Amino acid sequence: MRLKENLDRVRKRISAAALRAGRNPADVKLVAVTKTIPVEIISETLNLGVFSLGENRVQEFLRKQPVLPQDLEWHFIGHLQTNKVKKIIDKVSLIHSLDRWPLAVAISQAACKAGVTARALIQVNVAGEAAKYGLSPAEAEDFAQAAVALPGLELCGLMTIAPLCDDPDEVRYVFRQAAELARQIKDNIQGINMDILSMGMTGDFEVALEEGANLVRIGTALFGTRNY
Ligand SMILES: *Cc1c(COP(=O)(O)O)cnc(C)c1O
Repeated sequence: MRLKENLDRVRKRISAAALRAGRNPADVKLVAVTKTIPVEIISETLNLGVFSLGENRVQEFLRKQPVLPQDLEWHFIGHLQTNKVKKIIDKVSLIHSLDRWPLAVAISQAACKAGVTARALIQVNVAGEAAKYGLSPAEAEDFAQAAVALPGLELCGLMTIAPLCDDPDEVRYVFRQAAELARQIKDNIQGINMDILSMGMTGDFEVALEEGANLVRIGTALFGTRNY
């Protein structure tokens, strides 16, 4: 694996896409998705200056987190069971997968108990895929309105995952609608924070950036194809 070359290439592509969209590349956060990647390789990633890492499984995250430097910025990007929230609440910087009311309540309660403020993104399922988690765009605003009132929980924006496809232009509308939804929620709910738009993965991050993403979650383009 040529991690450094891959990272250089990804960073160049991020910059180019941000510039095409008239945006500052420095405003884009790259989260390296390290699911299935062993800690030895994650350490190399740290040596290359990437300190924001994404994991999607609680057990795997809890195995890796203690043996890596303690000042990393961990992003939890997978489906989260309510009974596991307390295990990660004080260890992650951002939960990207707030997708249902009981989870919002569980995060709020766990954060209050741990004495922390949990930052989270509402996951929206723009394409309405049955196999994917996330609120429908129509539900998101009411959900946000209720969730901003929960103690210990700080909403920070939206996350979406586009359907897999060969041509990312086919899912441009997904990113456009998510960006539009974030603007609408910000306009309609006073004081709400909608600063983060987490969208774009290896196959579609350039299109996502063109449509307003400011956080991309990238695994394969950095580490190669996962064997699962
Ligand atoms: C695995 C994963 C990614 C990274 O996907 P790649 O196509 O490997 O870049 C991004 N977001 C989520 C939620 C994931 O589960």
